[in-house]
Amino acid sequence: MPTVAVIGAGLGGLPAAYELRHLLPRDHTVTLISDKSHFTFIPGLIPVALNLKPLAHVQLDLQTLAQRHGLDFVRGGVTHLDMPNRQITVAGEKTIDYDYVIIAAGASLDFDPIPGLGPHGGYTQSVCTPTHALAARTAWLEFLENPGPLVVGAAPGAGCFGPAYEFALIADQQLRRHGLRDQVPITYVTPEPYGGHLGVSGVKHAQELTAQLMQERGIEVIDTMAITAVEPERMILANGRSLPFSYAMVLPAFRGVQFVRDLPGLGDEKGFIPVLSTQRHPTFPEVYAVGVSVKLPQLDKTEIPIGLPKSGQMTEAMATAAAHNIAVQLGAIRAPLQSPTLDALCFAEFGDTGIAYIAAPVIPDPETGQRRTAYAARGPWVVWAKMAFEEYFMAKMRLGVGMPWFEKLGLRALFNLKLFRSVLPEDLQALMQASP
Ligand SMILES: Cc1cc2nc3c(=O)[nH]c(=O)nc-3n(C[C@H](O)[C@H](O)[C@H](O)COP(=O)(O)OP(=O)(O)OC[C@H]3O[C@@H](n4cnc5c(N)ncnc54)[C@H](O)[C@@H]3O)c2cc1C
Repeated sequence: MPTVAVIGAGLGGLPAAYELRHLLPRDHTVTLISDKSHFTFIPGLIPVALNLKPLAHVQLDLQTLAQRHGLDFVRGGVTHLDMPNRQITVAGEKTIDYDYVIIAAGASLDFDPIPGLGPHGGYTQSVCTPTHALAARTAWLEFLENPGPLVVGAAPGAGCFGPAYEFALIADQQLRRHGLRDQVPITYVTPEPYGGHLGVSGVKHAQELTAQLMQERGIEVIDTMAITAVEPERMILANGRSLPFSYAMVLPAFRGVQFVRDLPGLGDEKGFIPVLSTQRHPTFPEVYAVGVSVKLPQLDKTEIPIGLPKSGQMTEAMATAAAHNIAVQLGAIRAPLQSPTLDALCFAEFGDTGIAYIAAPVIPDPETGQRRTAYAARGPWVVWAKMAFEEYFMAKMRLGVGMPWFEKLGLRALFNLKLFRSVLPEDLQALMQASP
């Protein structure tokens, strides 16, 4: 009987496995492979780093979930994929045969281009993994004892900026609460062409709302700027300016995970995986990819190159579409193939207020450069919506649910987001011919 394997059990992999389990007959195996023992709700790591939440609040044990929801769980990092023979190697030894595979392994963090960047032998913190968030929290607690300048930002090539704004603004709120803000000048350094760009241009109100908020909170924004080196307590910028810091949190550029980078033909030069609009690999029909692992074009030409953000909600839509399409290919359901529209919604929490950024779809029409809708809105409701979404998502993961119909309906009714469209067989044929 067929086996569908899912590599990675994050925001893309776990919902994909649940959707597959829901769509496929019981005699089909769904194998979930993860190098971590726990699922982590990554957006929840910022409050963890700022000591506002325990890590356990945003984690779930994968073995327990797999047992409860009918998944075969394999704990270990994938080291090789043999596409012609449809075989996965885990930790260099165990092999797993598959009929279809979904790669949802996220990204690896590229600290290398900037000397002194990152928590592994460098001088800056990160909030991108549970281990990093815990190290950032330890450093934060020491910083509160011995405050000084705070620098937050993102490296050239980064594609994820929302968490850096969240970190700077929640840190500001916490420092005020501790009565320390006057001892801590805060600077935000970014390769974005303006504050509030977040890797997506043309989002109505995003620039004004973000600039206004940073100004209100007394945070200096340095945009269109590359960090060139980090020394103990000093950050060097491309214009020669040197920023002193007692605490620094910088988001690095992302690249594909190691096993994808090692496999010629699977990913691009950075290890991101090209896909057709059905999430299927153009060359290997049994390989699907979702989430941060996927190659998406950045059509904005910025002075310093930056990536396109791949939000959690886009990732979940890709995962749902990939599972649906595999179920169609296996004959488990009779339906047209699906394509995620890549309509993006991101709630950024900034303490007592927040900004919702909406870009539908995130990639504008290549011919007109237009989107159906793109705007930002500010208010305390964003903080409540983000909190509610986190609780809802964690509950879904506990209960073994992917993306239910009422979630799709809710996003459509509230934000005019239409997450999926049908793909006609002739469209797919054309896409395959057009792909490299
Ligand atoms: C700090 C931070 C905050 C964010 N906040 C938001 C937000 O507020 N809203 C939003 O929409 N998006 C947010 N995002 C983006 C969001 O987290 C991502 O879109 C989402 O996590 C992508 O899901 P994924 O499954 O592709 O990757 P991940 O969730 O990172 O999951 C990938 C999983 O694969 C595992 N893995 C890696 N390599 C292997 C291997 N070789 N073998 C087996 N397993 C492997 C990893 O350990 C990981 O568990 C944030 C991102 C960061 C870094």
